[in-house]
Amino acid sequence: METVIVASGNPGKVKELSDILESFGMDVKSKDEAGYSHIDPIEDGLTYEENSLIKAEALVKASGCAVIADDSGLEVDFLGGEPGIYTSRFAGDDCNPDKNNAKLLTLMDGVPYGDRKAKFVTVITMLFPDGRKIVARGECPGHIVTEKSGEGGFGYDPVFIPEGYQSTFAQLGKEVKNKISHRARAISSLVNQLKERDLV
Ligand code: IMP
Repeated sequence: METVIVASGNPGKVKELSDILESFGMDVKSKDEAGYSHIDPIEDGLTYEENSLIKAEALVKASGCAVIADDSGLEVDFLGGEPGIYTSRFAGDDCNPDKNNAKLLTLMDGVPYGDRKAKFVTVITMLFPDGRKIVARGECPGHIVTEKSGEGGFGYDPVFIPEGYQSTFAQLGKEVKNKISHRARAISSLVNQLKERDLV
């Protein structure tokens, strides 16, 4: 298969994708490696699908290569599915993970365990220069803790316990997380769809 560019500047995400896809013989490059770090479209879609497509389309147009773009978020039942597509900037324009987590825990203050259900969602769009498109979704259900726990991971990892576990993503470590995460599940769905279409 031809070169595939990952529309992300996050080295961890690129590695997770390239480790899996290179085992199927794909030549995977990050957008920085491919020389397209300047391609950074405004993500003004209203769904993960729309936002990942916006990123994929911009890079396919610039590069003429196949592109993989992802978009993720955290959906909290008690908050009616928020922050969703606004997850990365939940606490405002000058937010950071600490402020986002603090806002979430404050909003959930006093909410009983049974009402703390949440899920991480990732949508990956793979777009080919001829317009073919594969959309893969992965979800990881769990719940929001009452107090931050753990030093590992990133983003909301210290406040999220995946279903079937007693520890947060930040405590569980990369090996476990990379098997059960929303991103891992979306990547697995992408690989299955590529196989079904004889593309790998
Ligand atoms: P992105 O679309 O992958 O950049 O994800 C949007 C936001 O969701 C990130 O800025 C993080 O705050 C949050 N997020 C996505 N995936 C994870 C995860 O695996 N752990 C913790 N936070 C995550």
